Amino acid sequence: MSRLLVRYPPHAARSRVVVTPGAFARLGRFVRETAAPRRALVLSDPNVAALYGARAMRLLERAHVASRLLVVPAGERSKGPRTLERIWSEMAAHGVGRHDALVALGGGVVGDLGGFAAATWLRGVAWVGVPTSLLAQVDSSVGGKTGIDLGAGKNLVGAFHQPAGVLVDPDLLQTLPVRERRAGLAEVVKVGMATDAALFRWIEREVAALDAGARDGLGEAVERAIRAKLRVVRGDEREREGGRRTALNYGHTLGHALEAARGYRGVRHGEAVAIGMRVASALSVEVVALAPRERARLVAVLDALRLPRRMPPTPLAALLEAMAHDKKRGTSGARWVLTPRVGHASVPRLISGRLVQAALREAGAVA
Ligand code: NAD
Repeated sequence: MSRLLVRYPPHAARSRVVVTPGAFARLGRFVRETAAPRRALVLSDPNVAALYGARAMRLLERAHVASRLLVVPAGERSKGPRTLERIWSEMAAHGVGRHDALVALGGGVVGDLGGFAAATWLRGVAWVGVPTSLLAQVDSSVGGKTGIDLGAGKNLVGAFHQPAGVLVDPDLLQTLPVRERRAGLAEVVKVGMATDAALFRWIEREVAALDAGARDGLGEAVERAIRAKLRVVRGDEREREGGRRTALNYGHTLGHALEAARGYRGVRHGEAVAIGMRVASALSVEVVALAPRERARLVAVLDALRLPRRMPPTPLAALLEAMAHDKKRGTSGARWVLTPRVGHASVPRLISGRLVQAALREAGAVA
């Protein structure tokens, strides 16, 4: 079990992060201790609410937090302005005040949406994350990035708004569909490949157990990945240009573009990142001399997790257009995080259009 108090100097923000199997049973007390609200709006999606919604409401009620559950449609297409407006309306109807809170019970979509609703409601109220997908537990629930997508691009509107608390219970992952588990494991691989060679070696050893969804293995993966992510974001909360946090965008230049080009349908975020890492690692061999045998280690892990090797046929022009709109493009074009070796990322850099286009065609882009 881990209890971490994360501070983000020079900002005053801090988050209490608890990672432990069975932690969900302490939800009521945890929300009281971290956010101390009288009222809370609990945001969830239908899949998660059906499994954990009633229990969450009971636990909050027992802790004397007057709570209301809002269930929004599942999936990335829900992460937009229309849903946000519904959440604000519900906050108003439930009388959520300056000292109240939002509880985000769900995957990364619910967390990003709920965190942003909390950042904007009454110019900012507290929120508590209860991540239920692997991706949300290892990545999106910590670090304080919140936001929504627009047709023009992913996460284009958002805010840094650190959760008061994050309650991570790896046992909740036992109900997660296998495709979602693999998509979440892609982000664990990303953290290892881009920032933590020891984590990457551990994944290589445990990959079969992780793919099978072994309880202990997943619990340890969550704990290791959160610690690795926190080491990175603590010193660079706002993702300075060329700062350490940019390493976590490994695989995301193409990943985000692929999601946007396909209208946020069909490809899971973690799957898009896996394809993005395959391409970024091919470019790394060309541009920063990643040894081909090191790239082969990444490919072997992604293959063992049965993450997609190629994208569904997607027009090259649509991908380039989406990259041009990505908010992380810097001032003069799409930038790529590359890995000169396992566990290390370079600052994002521009790469010749010819190399990028060849790599995208290789990964399934079509004319
Ligand atoms: P998601 O929220 O859509 O969840 C995936 C699916 O799993 C959904 O259908 C959900 O209902 C289901 N699910 C979740 N928990 C479950 C459980 N315990 N049992 C059964 N089903 C469950 O997607 P995601 O993959 O969790 O998150 C993707 C989002 O996270 C993207 O929008 C991405 O941009 C965002 N993200 C944000 C950050 C950040 O730092 N804020 C980092 C990485 C990703």
